[in-house]
Amino acid sequence: MLIKKINYGEIFLGRLSYGADLLEELIKVCSEKEIQLGQVQALGAVQKARIGYYDQKSKKFRFHTLDKPHEILSLVGNISLKNNKPIVHAHLTLADEKGRAWGGHLASGTIVYACEYLIQSFEGATLEREYDKKTDLSLWQK
Ligand code: ZN
Repeated sequence: MLIKKINYGEIFLGRLSYGADLLEELIKVCSEKEIQLGQVQALGAVQKARIGYYDQKSKKFRFHTLDKPHEILSLVGNISLKNNKPIVHAHLTLADEKGRAWGGHLASGTIVYACEYLIQSFEGATLEREYDKKTDLSLWQK
């Protein structure tokens, strides 16, 4: 178990660019604002999406590409450090034209149509991702 006590930092509210890669642009905001620890939430719409499911048996991500527009019902994620750079770990719930939901781990290749985000930075501690042998994932270690 890992526990860190943190304090609220600053809040950033904004809109991502049409055509941007959703994950990469969130990371860009974190780099520009020097956010090392925080949480992110967003809503809007994507032109297409790429979401992952981690297969615990094979210890590999399986990615789904949704090659058409979807609503972003919810994006929730956190910001921490990996190799001293901010990394965004986010999960996405999307809806298609009939309101059916899809969801998973946000991956590069998800293209913004319109996206409004809120990033809350935290202070007083950092969290760093490192390789975890048991899960074969990059998890918070210190
Ligand atoms: Zn994930």
